[in-house]
Parts: sequence; C-alpha cells; structure tokens
Amino acid sequence: MEAGIVGLPNVGKSTLFNALTCSVAAQSANYPFCTIEPNEGIVSVPDDRLKRITEFIVPQKIIPAALKLVDIAGIVKGAAEGEGLGNKFLSHIRQVDAIMQVVRCFEDPDVTHVAGNVDPIADIDTIETELVLADMQTLENALGKAQRSARSGDKEALLRVSVIEKCNAHLESEQPLRTLTLNPAESNAISSYGLMTAKPILYVANVDENDLEGKHPLVEKVRAHAAKSGAGVACVCAKLEAEIAELDEADRAEMLADVGLAEPSLNVIARETYRTLGLQSYFTAGEKEVRAWPFAIGSTAPQAAGVIHSDFEHKFIRAEIYSLADLEEYKSEKEIRAAGKLRAEGKAYIMQDGDICHFLINP
Ligand code: GDP
Repeated sequence: MEAGIVGLPNVGKSTLFNALTCSVAAQSANYPFCTIEPNEGIVSVPDDRLKRITEFIVPQKIIPAALKLVDIAGIVKGAAEGEGLGNKFLSHIRQVDAIMQVVRCFEDPDVTHVAGNVDPIADIDTIETELVLADMQTLENALGKAQRSARSGDKEALLRVSVIEKCNAHLESEQPLRTLTLNPAESNAISSYGLMTAKPILYVANVDENDLEGKHPLVEKVRAHAAKSGAGVACVCAKLEAEIAELDEADRAEMLADVGLAEPSLNVIARETYRTLGLQSYFTAGEKEVRAWPFAIGSTAPQAAGVIHSDFEHKFIRAEIYSLADLEEYKSEKEIRAAGKLRAEGKAYIMQDGDICHFLINP
C-alpha cells in the first residue's frame, strides 16, 4: 500500500516527507520544482497497542506497521495539458493507493507562494481541477474502446460504457469521483483505469508554528471543504516537525512539552494516512518479535495471513486469535488458552482490528 504526497510547489511537501521518512534523499529548497524525481520512503505507523502487548510478551524486536510514501514533485495549473512536469506527476499519482495533499496554511514572507497568496482552498481546487481534467481524458480514451467492444456484443463493455458515462457526468459537474457512489460491479468495471479523483485523499494542513491545533480560519475552511468532498484532514507544522524528528528522545520529549503536543504530529499523520488507505492492524506476538501487520478492512483471515507471506493465503488452515483485553486479563497466552479464550477461526472469519493471532498453515 502506498500513499503519494502531492501539493503545489513550496507548500512544505519535501520538508514533511523528510520528517516523515527521515530520508535525506528528498531535497528541500525554497524554489519551485526542487523535487523532480519522485522519492520513496517508509513511514512507520506508531501504535500504542504494541507497547501494551510487550508488557506481557517480551520480544527481541518490536515492529510497527509501515507504509510506503512517495514524494511526487509539485503539480501546477495546466498539468493535465503537460504543463510544468505535468504528465510525469500524473502518472505517479495514478500508481498510488491514496493521495496526501499538503496545503499551505502558514504565512511566511520569506517563502514564495506560487499563486502569490496563501489560499489553501484555491490550492486544493487547482490540483483537483487538474486531476478532474486528467480523469476526463482517461475516460474519453477508454470510452471509444469500450463502445467498440459493446457494439460487438460484449456485455462487460456495455457496463463499462454506462459507468464511464456516469463518471463523466459527475466530473463535468466538477465533482471528484470519490463522491460518486458506485456498486461493486460498477467500481470493478473501471478499476483498471487508475482514476485519480476516485482515490482516497488526506489534506495535510501545513500550519503556523503558533497554530498547531489548526484554529486559523484557513484551516477551518480546509476542514469544511474536506467534509463535503469525502477527504480527511490532519494538521502539522512541517518545519517544526522536521526539527523535532532530528532530536534524540529526551530532547524530543522536552520540545513536545514546550510546544504543547502530546506526541509528534507525524504520528497522527501516519495513522490518518493508514486510515485513509482503509487499513487496520492485527498483531503477531512471540518471543522473537511482536509485530503489527496491515490489512484492508473487511479482509478474511486467509487474506490477512497473506500479508505476512502470499503462500499463507492459499495454505491457510485456521487462525488462533485472542484480544489485547484477554492478554491484559490473563497475562499470558498459556493462561488465555487454559481459560478457553483462544478462539479458533476459519477461512470465512473477517479479521478485526487489534486481533492477536497465530496462523496454522499447511506445510
Ligand atoms: P515543497 O516545494 O512543497 O516540497 O516545499 P519545501 O518542503 O521545499 O518547503 C519550501 C520552503 O518552505 C522551505 O524553505 C521550507 O523551509 C519552508 N517551510 C516548509 N514548511 C514550513 C512551515 O511549516 N513553516 C514555515 N514558516 N516554513 C515552512
């Protein structure tokens, strides 16, 4: 699963990307187009349930769930026509599972704004318009092909034609496909097109150092806009987070206390991105490692097991599952088993967030 960071130039994408991934590869400089090649990084998803598990099961290693993050260079007006580095950005966005759009809500006369003034809603609209136009182009190309197949009696193509027309009408009213309700067969009919406005999106409001909770009216506007268009919102001061990320643990705690944050905002963003991607975690817990594994909400136990190793999905026999509450009550897996609380679940079981499990696999 991967998320792509997008945003206009100079909104703080690279600063945020670097802080999130602690990668030195992405440049951060005060001029447009400083990031040309997309950079990839890994973000771990902090989860305090890991710590709670390790109070009872002491492992050699603790491994949180992780996400891949791609820093996609600054999109500009006209990208759909190949303006700026247009087409390249768009093809990168097509490949990600979710979009994280950084919008500038901080004022700083030293940092140039490409459109001249700080207006996050205008920034959101600029990017959304490009993505809407690009999706319309994709659908236009697909429509001709689907119509030809439909004429020769292909039933699936007939469905595709009708879904494409439905999507087009929605896009023409300047609405992202995210807000169009399609049934599973309809979604499936167009799933291979990589439609960008259908992807889940998280707006990251890059706020001022003295507005960490995002009380500024501009941030409120972003929240209202997101509520209408099916997006999530998280606040961060990228510059401050970049500084916090570089500190050692003791200094970090002190700095967080100074600025009045309970934890780095990066943690919140990582969790929000995870949620935006439709992911939850189950845990495996043993002496070697206690580890969180991401799975798509609604996955069956074999599908969730397949996250550990693709073989596990096909060779799945059953899962033995208990909860963190059981662990906290009975203190060990042995006692959970003795109390008859270790559940055996079969192939149809829908994995639940927070399940702690063993999978029994055919050799
Ligand atoms: P990008 O073009 O979107 O990748 O933007 P960068 O991350 O390169 O940031 C552009 C400039 O804005 C740099 O000079 C950053 O130091 C500055 N910047 C980024 N985030 C913040 C912030 O939260 N507050 C302030 N004041 N400046 C920031």
